[in-house]
Amino acid sequence: MDTSGALGLLFLIVLISIVVFLICREVLCWYWKINEQLSCLMGIRETLEEIQQQLARTPGVGTAPAGDQATVATPVVRLACKRCERPVEHGARFCEYCGAPQA
Ligand SMILES: [Zn+2]
Repeated sequence: MDTSGALGLLFLIVLISIVVFLICREVLCWYWKINEQLSCLMGIRETLEEIQQQLARTPGVGTAPAGDQATVATPVVRLACKRCERPVEHGARFCEYCGAPQA
């Protein structure tokens, strides 16, 4: 076998290796649903970006309340049970954890 034949054989082996690699890669992507995961994640990212843009357009939402807005905004009422000190819903008559009546 002369040099050009050996080079041709080497080229053929490399080419076949690349094709086999690409086929195996496609099989793995199909088996582990990597392409589906990728498209799903991209869809989630697009949806999140849309939501972010909508929130940015809505005044008073999506931005951290600072200064005047913090005083205007309704404060979040966090009541605690008098007996067990766990959080109790506003207006609840009894603690849902220990059953103690809430005045
Ligand atoms: Zn309680």
